[in-house]
Amino acid sequence: MVTAEKDLHDGNPLWARSGSASLPMELLQKDISTDVVIIGAGISGALMAEELSSAGLRVVLLDKREPGHGSTMATTALLQYEIDQPLMRLIPQIGFENAVRAWRRSKLCVEALAVRIQMSGIRCGLTLQKSLYLNGNMLNAEQLQKEMEFRNQIGLQSEFIRRKTLQDEYGLHAASAIRSYHSYSTHPYRLCLGFLKKAIERKARIFSPVRVSEVDTSPRRVYIHTTYGFTITARHAVFTTGYEVPAQLKDQPFRIYSTWAMATCRQSSSVVKNLPLIWEASNPYLYVRSTTDGRIICGGEDESFSDGEKRNALNHSKIPALQKKLKKILPAADTTAAYSWSGSFGITKTGLPMIGEVPGLYNCFAVMAFGGNGITWSRLGAEMIRNLITGKKEPDEDLFRFAKK
Ligand SMILES: Cc1cc2nc3c(=O)[nH]c(=O)nc-3n(C[C@H](O)[C@H](O)[C@H](O)COP(=O)(O)OP(=O)(O)OC[C@H]3O[C@@H](n4cnc5c(N)ncnc54)[C@H](O)[C@@H]3O)c2cc1C
Repeated sequence: MVTAEKDLHDGNPLWARSGSASLPMELLQKDISTDVVIIGAGISGALMAEELSSAGLRVVLLDKREPGHGSTMATTALLQYEIDQPLMRLIPQIGFENAVRAWRRSKLCVEALAVRIQMSGIRCGLTLQKSLYLNGNMLNAEQLQKEMEFRNQIGLQSEFIRRKTLQDEYGLHAASAIRSYHSYSTHPYRLCLGFLKKAIERKARIFSPVRVSEVDTSPRRVYIHTTYGFTITARHAVFTTGYEVPAQLKDQPFRIYSTWAMATCRQSSSVVKNLPLIWEASNPYLYVRSTTDGRIICGGEDESFSDGEKRNALNHSKIPALQKKLKKILPAADTTAAYSWSGSFGITKTGLPMIGEVPGLYNCFAVMAFGGNGITWSRLGAEMIRNLITGKKEPDEDLFRFAKK
């Protein structure tokens, strides 16, 4: 198989109650040709299809699942520019200039995504949010203050706040935090469907279920073979297959972990009214957001394996652990879990995604938008691949490209 098979999520994700997509999907019943084939119709594929179709390219999307039913259904959808790896930790890893470029591009991607959602009139509960990065076992208060200074030095304005402000303004029990602005939360499945619909309006076609089994390339053409026996011929192919990584990229520097999340019952409005996005500088970490219908979502408790059965065996301890942590920092919250789920979660050491040409495959590109900023990086993927395919200069190509064998 051209991509790894993974058990992407289990349990009862909050977004699954939205039901199935009312998208005009087709069954692949003959060989076809197009400009670009996108393999994977999750949020990365949806953003890609919208972007490439708006550049005037003929786009075909393929997915072996229903669109949006991969990791996109399991995400908690905090849209943040703050990369998993703090700026002060990224600088020693990739150098000052590169770390600054990565953080600034991430900020631009969140802004671009929000603008694009609004321009397209997509109704996905997009909500402007403040974000709190709480001190923890990775960064103490002093280090957090230093991190804030680094960010402000490069134009990413944020402020350092202490216990009293956290208690008075948010009812939060924590010692200190960096408070930043201009993050978002959203409903990820609606977001995905919204962008797919926009692409379809521009004549993109979605074939589902279709499993891609093999890819052949020549200097001028890509041939996408499917398990149904039909082949799609294109000038370019883009893999947006999430954590089901193309075989050619399996040795790239990433890991697939397991993670857990839950959504509470509806809270009283005093608890969630001003609740910002919250995440901890800790390992294991906790992150928190609210929903437009007054629930709290929290997640974390990652483990360094991806086996679905092993993951499920831990549900009985991981969800109570999340409830306990939530209660500790937000004592007024009702931590009853109305929805709980687990999933695969890809990470890289730098917190940065890998995006670009697939080494060894002519005219094939891939977006591995991994980590806690996965959706921000999906937007980056759409921008970069559009530039690469249409022959425009991509300023950050070198920063995110795949390692050559
Ligand atoms: C619990 C959890 C919480 C998260 N929280 C956040 C968060 O708060 N913010 C954030 O930005 N990110 C978060 N993420 C990460 C985010 O969810 C992912 O980055 C994002 O969903 C990946 O989208 P995707 O479209 O790349 O992958 P997917 O949604 O998995 O889509 C890939 C698609 O490719 C298809 N596919 C694979 N192989 C083939 C094949 N051979 N043929 C045909 N189709 C194929 C699959 O069926 C799938 O539908 C979280 C993830 C999890 C699990």
